[in-house]
Amino acid sequence: MRGHGRWVTRSMNKVIVITGAGRGIGAAAAQLAASRGYAVCVNYRSNQDAADAVVAAIEEVGGTAIAVAADVGCEDEVKRLFAVVDRRLGPLTALVNNAGILETQMRVDEMDAARLTRTFTTNITGYFLCAREAVRRMSTRYGGAGGAIVNVSSMASRLGSAGEYVDYAASKGAVDSLTLGLAREVAPEGIRVNAVRPGVIYTDIHASGGEPGRVERVKDTVPMRRGGHPAEVAQAILWLLSDDAGYTTASFIDVSGGR
Ligand code: NAP
Repeated sequence: MRGHGRWVTRSMNKVIVITGAGRGIGAAAAQLAASRGYAVCVNYRSNQDAADAVVAAIEEVGGTAIAVAADVGCEDEVKRLFAVVDRRLGPLTALVNNAGILETQMRVDEMDAARLTRTFTTNITGYFLCAREAVRRMSTRYGGAGGAIVNVSSMASRLGSAGEYVDYAASKGAVDSLTLGLAREVAPEGIRVNAVRPGVIYTDIHASGGEPGRVERVKDTVPMRRGGHPAEVAQAILWLLSDDAGYTTASFIDVSGGR
């Protein structure tokens, strides 16, 4: 089958859940994963039209995808998400924890508990819950055949996002620790866990911070003097998921133009 001008390779059944795949980096990863032969679960929270468009684009080139709404911060919805995948796509082989949010730019001394809870629930609890469900399916400890997890972190975990969203940066620090700890926990059980740390990427997320044009403002501070594109992050994600990265775990790829 042909996809994006390339041949779609279909090997043994590869089934992937990508959270927050209706838009941005997740959508790019979903399309690239499909072109590499994965049956893809396109998870999203509320924008069904966007998720349906990603599924349609995948099906148009002969791939397999389903769209499943679920808030990754809600335990019952996460359980249902993975149960739907079991039923409709078959045994899970990979997870990309990607669904993440940030809120209006402000200083730490202005943040209230409700905001912190929203950010940490999606960006931290959501990653833990989805990782748990994936490990229960992929780990040899539970009779699974192994697999791979990629967490989408951020360069913010290293830079701190002062004056913008330190809560978001801190949530990505937690994602980095989750990546290291979980990788070492499940390495003997056939699961590799790695992360990508994107820099400033052209997606809708910056509008949530109240500055849709943020990439244009900061791009000159990037050593490569440009923002990144979701497809460039997707390439790193798909490499970490692939057998080419077979001895790579507890590791990070910064996709940030040197930032
Ligand atoms: P985006 O364009 O804003 O898209 C976010 C996606 O996540 C949407 O599909 C959204 O669903 C989904 N989502 C949000 N909250 C969710 C929840 N609770 N449950 C399920 N899905 C949820 O974001 P993006 O820029 O592609 O970011 C993707 C990841 O990359 C995030 O983890 C982000 O922190 C990270 N990242 C981004 C950048 C950047 O510059 N863009 C840089 C570093 C790291 P709906 O469509 O239904 O709203």
